[in-house]
Parts: sequence; structure tokens; C-alpha cells
Amino acid sequence: MIHSHGLQYTYPRGEPLRFGDVSVAQGGTLLLRGPSGSGKSTWLALASGLLTATAGEVVVSGQSVGALPANARDRWRARHIGFLPQKLHLSEALSVVDNLGLVFFAAGLPVDRATVAQTLQALGIEALATRRPSQLSGGQAQRVALARALLLHPGVILADEPTASLDDEACAASLNLLSTCASRLNATLVIATHDARVLQALPQARLLEFNAAVQVAA
Ligand code: ADP
Ligand code: MG
Repeated sequence: MIHSHGLQYTYPRGEPLRFGDVSVAQGGTLLLRGPSGSGKSTWLALASGLLTATAGEVVVSGQSVGALPANARDRWRARHIGFLPQKLHLSEALSVVDNLGLVFFAAGLPVDRATVAQTLQALGIEALATRRPSQLSGGQAQRVALARALLLHPGVILADEPTASLDDEACAASLNLLSTCASRLNATLVIATHDARVLQALPQARLLEFNAAVQVAA
């Protein structure tokens, strides 16, 4: 579940970004919808504890994220949040399996190769296990990044513009996969997007609208 109340963030020398309140039950889907620059990625960074709110609070899986001490944040994030970033950040120095293995290090857990193998299999990409990121197509790389996000069975999956560079067919497949994986885990799914196709594909989702007005100071 995710609840937020009075959430705001101000970048140095920026105007305050003010976010609408949300309440999403466990297993629900939330779309953050709005144009580029309206604050969607910032909201995801607040919900995952990469940034600390300047006002208000966001509660994710029962944890008030801003209340986490700085030294506990990385591990909390690794254990509770599956993040599918816009830029995938796969390490070219490592194979697909070893990229996934990094998740366990971040969470302070021993690498569980069986879980890595099962997750790759569940996404139909076990044949890619020994490849380097540069040997993957865009769609395959996104599946690998999704596998990485799902590895520790997070309660929340955050996806930043997952369909931005996809054609209609790949867009539908990607959203279908995200929804299927989220419901298999009963995870709450949050998708930040400026892509109108996403709302059409997920009509049951809660909507948090972002627009330029969110940035105007009071
Ligand atoms: P979106 O994801 O909707 O495109 P962002 O959350 O990335 O929007 O950005 C929201 C606003 O904050 C924009 O005006 C952007 O320029 C600004 N912003 C984003 N990151 C930074 C940063 N690191 N420092 C200063 N301003 C930033
Ligand atoms: Mg963004």
C-alpha cells in the first residue's frame, strides 16, 4: 500500500513541487500521469527514499519513508521496492545473472542463484543468463531489468516511463507483463508515464495527475 499526504519537494534553487495526496491499497495500481518535467520521477524518488520530502509524508508498505534513518534507506529500498528505472542501469561489465546477483548485495543478503534462475525463467529470458547487456535487444534488456526489480518479491513495484521507447505491440506486452508480475506478487504497481496508451491499457488504475501547476509556488 501507498499513502501520501501533503507531499512536497524543493530542489536547490527550484520552485516547490507539490504533489496530490494518494491512497492505494496493497495490490492496486497507480498511474502518475503528466508531461515531462512535471515531477513524476521526483515522486518515485520520494517514495523509494532516494530523496527526502521537504514537507508532508509518503508511507510505503507501512513505512514512513522520510522517517527512515539515512543509513537504513538503501537496504530498506533493496528489500521492499522493485524499481524499473527509465535508464536501465545494467552493468556492462557483468553478465545478466551477475547483474541480478547485485540485488542481493544491496539488500545485505547472500546471493541466491536459484531465485535468479527462477525469476529469469518466469520472464522467459533464461536463455539470456550469460549475455552482457550490449548483447540484448531493448525489449530483452527491459525484461532483465524487470527481473532485477522482482527478484526479492517486493511489495511495491515502481516503473518510470516503461513504455516510452516502445512500439504499440511492445508497449502492450510490457504493460501486460508488469501487471501480471505485480498481481502474482500482490505488489502495488506504480507507473510514471506521459504515454496515453498506458491509461487505456490500465483503466482500473488510480490516477495521480501531474501538471505544470504543481510547480507554482503559493
Ligand atoms: P518528470 O519525471 O515528470 O519528467 P522530474 O521529476 O524529473 O519530472 O522533474 C520535475 C522538475 O524538477 C523539473 O522542473 C526538473 O527540471 C526539476 N529537477 C529534476 N531533477 C532535478 C535536479 N536534480 N536538480 C534540480 N532540479 C531538478
Ligand atoms: Mg521522469
